Amino acid sequence: MQLVETRGNDGKRRERVGFSQAILDPGASFGGLYVPESLPDMGISFLSEYTMSDYKTLAHAILKAFEIDIEDDLIYEALDRYDSFDDASNPVPVSKIGQKLYVSELWHGPTRAFKDMALQPFGVILSALAKMREENYLIMAATSGDTGPATLETFKNREGIKVSCLYPAGGTSDVQRLQMVTEDAPNLKVIGVNGNFDDTQKALKSLLSSDEFRAKLQREGLRLSAANSVNFGRIIFQLIYHVHSYLELMRKNEIVLGDEIDLVVPSGNFGNALGAYYAKKAGLPIRKIIIASNVNKILTELFTTGIYDIKDRELILTESPAMDILKSSNVERLLYDKFGPERTKELMKSLDEESRYELSPEELHLLQEDFEAAYSEDSDCESVIAEFAEKGYIMDPHTATSIKAYREKGNGEIPTVIYSTAQWTKFSTTVAKALGLEAQRDLDAMKLISERFDIAIPKVIEELFSRKIVHDTVVEKDGIEKEMLSFLTSE
Ligand SMILES: *Cc1c(COP(=O)(O)O)cnc(C)c1O
Repeated sequence: MQLVETRGNDGKRRERVGFSQAILDPGASFGGLYVPESLPDMGISFLSEYTMSDYKTLAHAILKAFEIDIEDDLIYEALDRYDSFDDASNPVPVSKIGQKLYVSELWHGPTRAFKDMALQPFGVILSALAKMREENYLIMAATSGDTGPATLETFKNREGIKVSCLYPAGGTSDVQRLQMVTEDAPNLKVIGVNGNFDDTQKALKSLLSSDEFRAKLQREGLRLSAANSVNFGRIIFQLIYHVHSYLELMRKNEIVLGDEIDLVVPSGNFGNALGAYYAKKAGLPIRKIIIASNVNKILTELFTTGIYDIKDRELILTESPAMDILKSSNVERLLYDKFGPERTKELMKSLDEESRYELSPEELHLLQEDFEAAYSEDSDCESVIAEFAEKGYIMDPHTATSIKAYREKGNGEIPTVIYSTAQWTKFSTTVAKALGLEAQRDLDAMKLISERFDIAIPKVIEELFSRKIVHDTVVEKDGIEKEMLSFLTSE
C-alpha cells in the first residue's frame, strides 16, 4: 500500500510513502494527513473466506490485503497484544441487547477503553520501526483522559520511544488519572497542568511549533511522531473490528452473508467512524454509519446541514468527555475521499482561516449516502444508562450516546451494531448518578454499582487505588517546557 496526502503535495515531500514512513512521520504537505491511495477488496468473497476466523487471523488477513510494508513476524508480534485482552480468543465480544440490536465492546483491553484496540498493536510496530532504523522518537500527547493511559501502557519500556503525556489536573476521572500517574517506566513522563484540556492542548501545540524546542530535541537525537488518530497506523487497526462485528453476527446466525447492517459509532475525532467508512468502501455490507455525538454536535451539523462552523463556539464539557471535540481531525480524510485533494485543501484552509466551511448540496448528498448523525444531551445518556441497567446491561455514557442516535436515525428492520467505547468503570460517578446512587469518587461509585448490579470491578481497575503514584508533577502552563527538557535530557 502506498499513502498519499489529503491536501496534495508541496513538491518537497515524497508524493507517495509506504505505511511505515507514514507511521513514523505522520504529517503530510500543507498540514494534511496521509490516506491510502486505494483500498483492498473486502467484499463477499473475502468475507466468505474468513467467516470462521478468530480475531487475530482476520486482522492478519486485512493487514496483508493492505500490503503494508511490515514483516510478518512483526505483524504477528503486534497482534499478540490482543492476547492480553479479557478473552484472547475473542478480544471484541458482540452481544445482543435488543430486537436486531447488538453491542460490540471495544474496551476489553488493559485500559478499559477503545483506544487499546489500535494503540496496543501500534505501539509494538512504531517501536520496532524506530529500533530498526536506529532512531529515537518522542511521542507527546495531551489527553483529556483515554488516549493518555492507552499511549503510556503500549509504549512503557519500549526501546527507541519516549512518551510525555500532559493532562489537565483535576480534569480527568480518578481512574484515568491513576492509570497515568502510576505508570512506572523510565521512558514515560506524565505532567499535570493547571488548567483545562483546551489550555493543555494549546500549551502542547505552542511547544511543538517552537523552533527552539525542536532544536533542543534534535540535539538530543529525538524525532517527533504522533500516536493520536492523525497517525494512519492507528486507523488501520480501527477498520478490523468492523469486519469482525459483521462476521460475529453471521456466526450467531443473526444475518447471512451479504445482508446489510447499520453501525452506530460514538464519535469525537472521527477515527473509529473513519475505520467503518473504509470498511464499507472496501465492500463490507453496511447500509449506514450513524455518527453519535454529545452536545458538541459539530458532526451532527456537518452530516445534516453540510456546514462545519466552530466560529464563536466554546467547547462544552460533558459527561462523555472523550467526545468533547470541536476540531474533528479525521473528517479531513473523508473529505479527501469524497472530494479529492484540491477541494479538501480549500475546505481545510477555510476552517483554519475562517473557522468554518460549507459544502454544496451535492457534496452534502455524497456524505449522506454513507452517514447519518444525531446527538445526545447528558440527560439523554443518563436515561439510557438507567433503562439498560434495568435490563441488566451497564453501559458508559459514551456508549449511551449511540442508543439515542440509533433511535433517531436507525431502522428497526436492519440489524444494527452499536459500539461500546469504554467500560462503565472508567466513568463510574456518572453511571452511578444515572442510576440514582450517590457517590463523589470513582471508587465509591464502582463499589455501589458493583453491589447493586452484581457486576465485578476488574482487577486492573481496583488495583489502581493502591498503586504507588510515581508522577506527582503538576505545573503551570509556562512550566511545561522546563519539565519536559529535564526528562528528555536525563540519563
Ligand atoms: C476516543 C474515544 C471516543 C471517540 O473516538 P474517535 O475515534 O476519536 O471518534 C469515543 N469514546 C471513547 C470512550 C473514547 O475514548
